[in-house]
Amino acid sequence: MKKKFLSAFVATMMTMVFLCGCGGAATAGEADNGGEASKETLIVGTNAAFPPFEYVGDDGKPDGFDIALIKAIGEEIGVEVQIQDMEFDSLVSSIGNKIDVAIAGMTVTEERQQMVDFSDPYYEAVQAVIIPKGAAIATADDLKNKKIGVQLGTTGEFIADEIEGAEVSAYNKAVDAVNDLNNGRVDLVIVDKNPAEVFGAQFSDKVDVVAGENFDFEPENYAIALPKGDEDLAVKINTALKKFKDNGTYDSLVKQYIEE
Ligand code: GLN
Repeated sequence: MKKKFLSAFVATMMTMVFLCGCGGAATAGEADNGGEASKETLIVGTNAAFPPFEYVGDDGKPDGFDIALIKAIGEEIGVEVQIQDMEFDSLVSSIGNKIDVAIAGMTVTEERQQMVDFSDPYYEAVQAVIIPKGAAIATADDLKNKKIGVQLGTTGEFIADEIEGAEVSAYNKAVDAVNDLNNGRVDLVIVDKNPAEVFGAQFSDKVDVVAGENFDFEPENYAIALPKGDEDLAVKINTALKKFKDNGTYDSLVKQYIEE
């Protein structure tokens, strides 16, 4: 009787271990393609609504500078990159459970550093302001007491929250903020410079883009968000980043995606 119970218990435990082993996305796990040479999978979270860093390509798959960069890094460090498109605001809290790392034009901030580690920075950015064509918004004072559209959980939102008299509307996608600017529901949009330029070109008959320096916005650094304390992964990714900066891979991606 006792023995029977024990073996049933062991069988249950083994099933549990087996199930956990197959389903986990918490750490880079074996890709389930059967072969001995199967690569580990790195599940990479992004928000594919932030051109030119990430967007949905013509084939319906995520593309952009960040996607190309992380795929190159994956190849360099010998892991199979699997992209998971999700809301920007969920990325940091999903590291270590739904995803392994995140690349999403994500600025290194002290708040985020409480929850995740960051790779070495790979791009310097700054916020910009999208305004209705010809609107008189040119200095920091002009931002006061305005209806401001931002993307939820971004540094653009953090800046807007500090502006005197601002009425801030946060959207899941930056382009939705720009659409509400075009509808007159907000007076201006604060978003990172490169996407601002893409939206500026997309709606060139309706909006102007004013550089963040005019408003004294601070420079920001994009980096890859990593699980806290995973030194091994950090070293691998930073080594690959450095190699790409040295050997021209990084510059060719900048030319292809950002300066095209
Ligand atoms: N760089 C901004 C941030 O980190 C916006 C990023 C994004 O919207 N993908 O908050």
